[in-house]
Amino acid sequence: MNISPVVYPVALVGAGPGNPGLLTLRAVELLSRADLILYDRLVPVRLLDHAPDSARRIAVDALHGKHPERWQEVYQLMIDAARQGRRVVRLKGGDPFVFGRGGDEAEALRQAGVPFEVVPGVTAALGASAFAGIPLTHRQHVSAVAFVTGHENPDKTDSFLDWAELARFPGTLVVYMGMGRLADIVEQLIVHGKPADTPAAVVHWATTGRQRTVTAPLRDLPAAVQQAGMKAPSLIIIGSVVSLRAELAWFEERPLLGRRILVTRPRHQASEMIARLEELGAVVSQLPAVEIREPADWTPVDRALTQLSTYQWLVFTSANGVDALIRRLRHLGRDLRALGSLRLAVIGPATADALRRYHLELDLIPSRFDSESLAAALREHVAGQRVLLVRADRGREILREQLADVAEVEQVAVYAQVDATEPGSVVLDALRRGEIDYVTLTSSNIARSLVRALDEESLQRIRSGAVQLVSISPVTSTTIRELGLPVAAEAREYTTAGVVQVLLDLASQECSRNL
Ligand code: SAH
Repeated sequence: MNISPVVYPVALVGAGPGNPGLLTLRAVELLSRADLILYDRLVPVRLLDHAPDSARRIAVDALHGKHPERWQEVYQLMIDAARQGRRVVRLKGGDPFVFGRGGDEAEALRQAGVPFEVVPGVTAALGASAFAGIPLTHRQHVSAVAFVTGHENPDKTDSFLDWAELARFPGTLVVYMGMGRLADIVEQLIVHGKPADTPAAVVHWATTGRQRTVTAPLRDLPAAVQQAGMKAPSLIIIGSVVSLRAELAWFEERPLLGRRILVTRPRHQASEMIARLEELGAVVSQLPAVEIREPADWTPVDRALTQLSTYQWLVFTSANGVDALIRRLRHLGRDLRALGSLRLAVIGPATADALRRYHLELDLIPSRFDSESLAAALREHVAGQRVLLVRADRGREILREQLADVAEVEQVAVYAQVDATEPGSVVLDALRRGEIDYVTLTSSNIARSLVRALDEESLQRIRSGAVQLVSISPVTSTTIRELGLPVAAEAREYTTAGVVQVLLDLASQECSRNL
């Protein structure tokens, strides 16, 4: 019998206005099991991290065809993939059915007999309204709102839009795609009777760290926008509610707003730091400079794990070390009870948290989170005992050196760290073009790996101070200086939270300098 493949519905999914937190749960669910993702230009690529590595990702704008053939190609890709039983997510900026051609795409799918589902997204008007502090309706102001495209020529006689009618509309007007015709739109509205002093705003890149807002009376808006150098993607909001922004603006006060920060940690460890920086308003790029792999040889680890009861201390210098050791223990068919009699020491809070995720509590953490302090703290406890140091295949020898005269120290590599920075990536291009303000460096290996991948132009930007390096600790700072580069700031607490704090300090120093 011939069984035809399952046809999953193609999902037309709204990606929201740019802020990665404004994705729906359903969108995340669909992305996490997608086989093929077709995404638009305004969709932040970081949303694609919700998808498995195996999913094919196609940027629709990169497809070779031009209007309108490109759309045919998109339809065909979706239809073919669906018929092959693949799960397709068509990820569109904002909401798929608001100026997003989602309707055309759904029609094409319907015609082809391919089932689909539509997942709404936060449309740009709602994102801009919330993040610029401009309620689109308000009891004391207006009870209606209209979403309008500014893409159509206001002079066009067969336009769907009647600007005379819109000028009389008793509510807030939100204009999408209107930047190219801002002056025309304003003129048409005023000519048709909209008061020239109606409060108006343009919100650029709403909901993201690149958000900027300009407000002015309607007649002055084009000049104000030109002066601010604002371009697409932006929304125009016209109506008395714009005046509420004076009191309700909140997002643009975030301390790192617009600061372009590069995070170089391994991908699986970067998300918390990125989320924190974005909450503070930063525009974050990611370029993992090192990756974590299995060690070349498990033999020494396995030997140590089968003799765990002969050690008194287990010492972890990274969260990766905790995860790798426990995973290996499980691989050998054993469990946490094997650690029962051991005392546990960690270098800092992130490593402590890693242990706690396995419901293990630590016995020792130094007051400063570096190897020197850990060695000093351990020395008081380990005299005459056996100590197992769990670590990466490359790293400093301080701990072993400083404990060797008092204890019997063994060191095992439970994971390997390899350089991951690929020359030629888009993020490195951005650095070269001056589109990054700060680079965070959270270990010596990360610093070395990144610097190896930088070309002369980028290095020059760093030397001149146009790009600032922020280091997690004195050890990392020393490495950076040995590489011939200046350190703009160093964390006082040697954690990623410490790095975020020092970025905040830098930003506020800059602000006060600019005052
Ligand atoms: N479907 C999308 C709109 C696509 S049309 C939605 O529902 O939001 C593209 C236009 O949307 C842009 O020209 C701009 O006017 C607006 N837009 C999209 N994202 C935006 C953002 N983050 N900030 C301001 N305007 C945005």
